[in-house]
Amino acid sequence: MSSNTSRQGAITAVTGYSTPEASFSFADTKPTELFGCNVFNDNVMKDRLPKKVYKSLKKTIEEGAAIDPSIADTVANAMKEWALEKGATHYTHVFYPLTGLTAEKHDSFISPDGKGNCIAEFEGKLLIQGEPDASSFPNGGLRATFEARGYTAWDVTSPAYILENPNGTFLCIPTAFISWKGEALDKKTPLLKASQVVNTSAQRILKIFGDDSGNRVVSNAGPEQEYFLIDRNFFFARPDLMMAGRTLFGAKPAKGQELDDHYFGAVPRRVLSFMMDVEHELYKLGVPVKTRHNEVAPGQFEIAPVYEQSNIATDHNQMVMTTLKSVAKRHGMTCLLHEKPFAGINGSGKHLNYSLSCNGHGSLFDPGDNPTENAQFLVFCAAAIRAVHMHSKLLRAVVATASNDHRLGANEAPPAIMSVFLGDQLSEIFSKIQEGNSPTPTSTGFLKAGVDTLPPLPRDAGDRNRTSPFAFTGNRFEFRAVGSHLSIAGPQVALNTMMAESLDFIADEMEKIMGGDKSKLNDAVNKVIKDIMDTHGQVVFNGDGYSDEWHKEAVEKRGLPNLRTSADAIPEIASPESVAMFTKYGVFTEEELESRKEIYLEQYNQAIVTEAALVTKLAKTHILPGAVRYQKELAETCAAMKEIGVEFTTGTLEDLTAKLRGMQTANIELEKIMQAKPEGDVLKEARYLCDTALPAMLEVRKYADQLEEVVADDLWCLPSYSEMLFIK
Ligand code: ADP
Ligand code: MG
Repeated sequence: MSSNTSRQGAITAVTGYSTPEASFSFADTKPTELFGCNVFNDNVMKDRLPKKVYKSLKKTIEEGAAIDPSIADTVANAMKEWALEKGATHYTHVFYPLTGLTAEKHDSFISPDGKGNCIAEFEGKLLIQGEPDASSFPNGGLRATFEARGYTAWDVTSPAYILENPNGTFLCIPTAFISWKGEALDKKTPLLKASQVVNTSAQRILKIFGDDSGNRVVSNAGPEQEYFLIDRNFFFARPDLMMAGRTLFGAKPAKGQELDDHYFGAVPRRVLSFMMDVEHELYKLGVPVKTRHNEVAPGQFEIAPVYEQSNIATDHNQMVMTTLKSVAKRHGMTCLLHEKPFAGINGSGKHLNYSLSCNGHGSLFDPGDNPTENAQFLVFCAAAIRAVHMHSKLLRAVVATASNDHRLGANEAPPAIMSVFLGDQLSEIFSKIQEGNSPTPTSTGFLKAGVDTLPPLPRDAGDRNRTSPFAFTGNRFEFRAVGSHLSIAGPQVALNTMMAESLDFIADEMEKIMGGDKSKLNDAVNKVIKDIMDTHGQVVFNGDGYSDEWHKEAVEKRGLPNLRTSADAIPEIASPESVAMFTKYGVFTEEELESRKEIYLEQYNQAIVTEAALVTKLAKTHILPGAVRYQKELAETCAAMKEIGVEFTTGTLEDLTAKLRGMQTANIELEKIMQAKPEGDVLKEARYLCDTALPAMLEVRKYADQLEEVVADDLWCLPSYSEMLFIK
């Protein structure tokens, strides 16, 4: 009898693992010295660029002024010299196509000098613009392959950096990726546009409140990245994890996350060694990672940076994800960024902490120290309430992926219904204003709402409601529906544009009421907040977002949409409301939105088609063989016992046979379903896959997982949940 080699081998390898010797020490190089050493940052620029060039570049970076092309050669040369000193041989324009991944095309600095030697060269035009062969990136019909040209354009606002490899280093230049007609083919271009848009609208409000400094309003993001770590040996013994990023089979372990010992326990030695290595790499790249801890599920962890300006935070989050993956390999592990690698076990999200801020104000979602600041804070919150209510479908759409569907609405981490959590104190203030009890300044400088004198507004919403998809947390909103593998660009594009639209609406209203008379500021604030609460207040919900009552109430009483699946949600990207908003602000054209909708639906379909094929194949080639071998063994035993006159049936054989039949029947059904899949219309296909294929896959899994509970352990070839999650 042959025992299963891949699984047994994996277990042997994993249990024999010992943490390798340290490859560096923070005692030798302090994080403070290391931080940003591979970044062409402000200090380096100041050092290496002529004063005039530095100033001009700085203006572009800080104020969003257009780049002066005449400085490009000088900057490129300084960048090259710096990179060569750091051992770089190549440069690459890094861009973020709609695959959600990071893309690079490398070119060497080397040019032949015509005399048999070569020199290192890097001109301004190569810094500013690149032309990767773009035909293999998704474009959703924006670009026929015969005109497959796409350009990368230097994003001055995100610093260039050096990436290290054991055999050398290369210079990375963050860029935007656009078609030859100027349509955005990436995640960065719309983010840069949306960040500008919200700046303009937010400044209108600040001006109404008396600040006409023109200081730029920026949006900030602090993404808390969750991930799983498993030993690489297990990963390679699980074709489903390798190809689909999640397990398509697997019985729940006897010990799950019910016991909170993991969350509160110490970080395992092997994992901590990995985390420090990740931090070491990220410090060099100037990524301010700050927090590390175990997460709820066994084998699940989190890394969180200090928040940064949206564009940089987005690039940095991509670096965090790439670094987690690459460093895990060095430690003999695989980092899983899928939202739900293990069914029945807590999934991974990426809470996106979001705020707008401005020099001289700090966060505009931070209650201030005096009545005017408080009122201004309330106006920004009201804008967020209105924005989420008006565009809740879009907000659901920008986090819609096949993988995230296993989290959202699946009775864990936020439901698919978008609502706003304000906390009791803040909710009360909004209700009071809505009732007409206007908050007016008192002599003590606090807000007065009707008869009650309110204390200074709470800086920390004490109640940390984990069930809300969009929660106020003291000085920011936390958008919790974002999936762990998703780029945070899309959600921020939506949030910034939605906020811009609401802030403009408020500014229009307030200007109308005030008519230039500053003494009417209070009236205007009260009126506009009351109106917003009257029309959009039903989106505010402080209760338990997981409860059945809420789902009923939200949909039936409050009329909030519940887009349970990505097939429901993705089309909302190009809904009339979405098109109207994005085109008004020049963030997307209608064609760009249509193409994105198309691409995301295609990706959704592709993910499920791949999974369905894997289910069928693994059922046939991995699960069935082990089960029938065991069946044979049992049958032979029964027959042999009978021969010597002993009647022997355990019931096991019958039970096993029934489960096997169940799995085979379900598998045949799944194959039929996949053959009958409609072709040609992506949306129709998505609906079909969602409603018909996914349940059929689950049916196969149901029997397979039952088999896992009865088949002899030495004949079961897929590493089990407990092995993958608990053996380190
Ligand atoms: P928790 O897990 O308790 O929510 P963490 O410390 O893990 O908190 O993460 C909070 C994240 O929110 C961090 O990335 C932090 O930098 C970020 N953050 C804090 N203040 C702001 C703000 N004003 N705007 C955006 N993000 C913020
Ligand atoms: Mg956290």
